[in-house]
Amino acid sequence: MKFAFTTKGDPKSNTLMHKMRSQLLEFDLIYDEDQPDIVISVGGDGTLLYAFHRYSSRLDKTAFVGVHTGHLGFYADWVPDEIEKLVIAIAKTPYQVIEYPLLEVIIRYQHGGKETRYLALNESTVRAVEGTLVMDVEIRGDHFERFRGDGLCISTPSGSTAYNKALGGAILHPSISAIQVTEMASINNRIFRTVGSPLILPSHHTCMLKPVNEPDFQITIDHLTLLHKDVKSIQYRVADEKIRFARFRPFPFWKRVRDSFISDKN
Ligand code: NAP
Repeated sequence: MKFAFTTKGDPKSNTLMHKMRSQLLEFDLIYDEDQPDIVISVGGDGTLLYAFHRYSSRLDKTAFVGVHTGHLGFYADWVPDEIEKLVIAIAKTPYQVIEYPLLEVIIRYQHGGKETRYLALNESTVRAVEGTLVMDVEIRGDHFERFRGDGLCISTPSGSTAYNKALGGAILHPSISAIQVTEMASINNRIFRTVGSPLILPSHHTCMLKPVNEPDFQITIDHLTLLHKDVKSIQYRVADEKIRFARFRPFPFWKRVRDSFISDKN
């Protein structure tokens, strides 16, 4: 089996990575940065986001596993004290693969520019370059609302515990194939109206955002922020691709939610 690492880059994560790497090589596993079967992310959930984007072109051939060197994570669930156990598990046990849905983002441009396509593991957000974001929101091809406010966030189920949660979105179990649309400070008064609640769309529904006047936007894809000019539309839906996690022991999602946000005590 071929393996690779991504690390947060701090001394603790790097030391841990070197230790795991020598142990895996002793088990005759092959270090291959370009075509790994398993990618071990050492750091936090943010590090796993980087790992995902680094290997997003080979998602069907790669499984991810995360070790956290800071606080408990959603994607990084192994602790430094357990790395020997994890190394043996990687080397010796056929692992179970758990798949989580991803968000597909297609940005189309005015004047016939070539469209761009992205995959997000957590979410994509849209903001105006300056001032209030004004966009028409279409759901499944029908006009839904004209949004005015700070921005919109479209998240995956596993990203629902990240930015989406801070915006008052629901936490979705990652076995649900859906995307969630949440508002950032919408303007609501007697003239301007938005639904105000987070929306959860099934995998066969598309959410399309269309500019009303200003066609330039700041669009994030997980940790990446990009300026897109002359945008005609931004299309969101559940992607056909999925991220695969190597699972060596049960780690229930709701336990992770509780341990992260409520208490890790019994
Ligand atoms: P960052 O600003 O350095 O870290 C953002 C925090 O979000 C980190 O504590 C990270 O955990 C945590 N996180 C990432 N994915 C998560 C998930 N699925 N569930 C729960 N927590 C999660 O940025 P970054 O490390 O480059 O990560 C980018 C992410 O930051 C974005 O995808 C967005 O979700 C999140 N973000 C959140 C807010 C907010 O909550 N107000 C605002 C902007 C962006 P680790 O410490 O384990 O890495």
